[in-house]
Amino acid sequence: MEDQNLDESFSPVLLAIASQESGGRVPDIFQSSESLGLPPNSIGPEESIEQGVKYFKELADSVGIESASDEGLDLVLQSYNFGEGFIDYAKERGGYSQETANEFSDYMADESGWSSYGDPKYVSHVNKYMGSTATGDVEGEVIGDMALPLSKDAFMNDLMCDIGCYYDAGSDTPHPGYDWNVPRGTKAFSMVDGTVIEVSEGSPDNPQGIPLSQALTMDLGNYIRIIPDNNKGVVLSYFHLTGQDNGVMVEEGMKVEKGQVIGHSGNSGRTTGEHLHVEMLVGGDYHIDSAIKFYDEMKAKLE
Ligand SMILES: [Zn+2]
Repeated sequence: MEDQNLDESFSPVLLAIASQESGGRVPDIFQSSESLGLPPNSIGPEESIEQGVKYFKELADSVGIESASDEGLDLVLQSYNFGEGFIDYAKERGGYSQETANEFSDYMADESGWSSYGDPKYVSHVNKYMGSTATGDVEGEVIGDMALPLSKDAFMNDLMCDIGCYYDAGSDTPHPGYDWNVPRGTKAFSMVDGTVIEVSEGSPDNPQGIPLSQALTMDLGNYIRIIPDNNKGVVLSYFHLTGQDNGVMVEEGMKVEKGQVIGHSGNSGRTTGEHLHVEMLVGGDYHIDSAIKFYDEMKAKLE
């Protein structure tokens, strides 16, 4: 780092790049041999780190940033994946955006006749390793050390199924969470201060009222799983989030705050109608015995 006169604020960024590139397993930890025009993984670790840092420094200089808090870091990161050609392309279009990254990827794929080019989601993939904080507004109703998963009105009035209210069709598993009958697009709030450990997105919403037999052929749909800071044995999950914009607003590794908007309800996965399913399970066992019953307690505090 010192050899390259890079500001210290870039250290976590470089580590995040190394994690994204390699998970720490591949010897060429910055995957930087390609930037030397060599075949992938053809240089050793030390040389690789040096070359990766050098390449990063060139891109940072070219974008014109001096510290990790400068605007333009995202452009440097995406260029680390796409190559230096992305810098001018993005600058001509007002700087980095996800949309511009997608366009550049498509454009380069077309030009080169490849089926795809680079990783247009590189910025969010690297951010995942930086322990970044979710950016949703904090609007949920806080009750003690928890927040309601929905607005107070929906929480109190729209519960349609609680823990054990039915057995999942085709299995012996009693329903291990709570279902609220809320329309697609309803805000979902983090109930706790915690860390996002898993997200799934990209599933479409099902048509309203599809037959259960059809819904059961779906995957799990769009969901978020969070571990609370104050009880790491618990996993809190939100299911059936919408496949439209902002169904899932957080990424793996992000810190979330209680009451923060993390996504929007929908009708994705194994569901026949729009609703939000929320469960808190101890140890993550998908079973009613490990389900934490939070509704009655929270409701009592609200009344
Ligand atoms: Zn449910």
